[in-house]
Amino acid sequence: MSARPVDPPDVECSACDAVCCRLTVVLLPGDRVPEHLTELTDEGLPVMARDEDGWCVAIDSARMCCSIYETRPAICRKFAMGGPYCREVREEYATHYAREIPLLLR
Ligand code: SF4
Ligand code: SF4
Repeated sequence: MSARPVDPPDVECSACDAVCCRLTVVLLPGDRVPEHLTELTDEGLPVMARDEDGWCVAIDSARMCCSIYETRPAICRKFAMGGPYCREVREEYATHYAREIPLLLR
């Protein structure tokens, strides 16, 4: 009896603009992130700093992957590819950018 083929995942980080790396990443005790990549919110909460386009400053923008992957914060480690939150932020991102594409009258 042959094994049932496994369906390929419909969501993959390798085909994503790392949109989860635009979310606020709160740093927890135990996180070991270089200080120059972090900032404090107005409320004094330590978070990953973000660039002017909204992405975490630890993103490797050439490859759209985490440049501190081995020491990334705990919250990033828990974020599940293809999970509900991943799908939600991808949907929101796609909708936002779709809105920025001008409609053409023909
Ligand atoms: S976890 Fe989800 S949102 Fe984040 S890079 Fe992977 S596919 Fe994209
Ligand atoms: S630390 Fe890495 S995984 Fe976490 S948001 Fe920044 S770039 Fe993404």
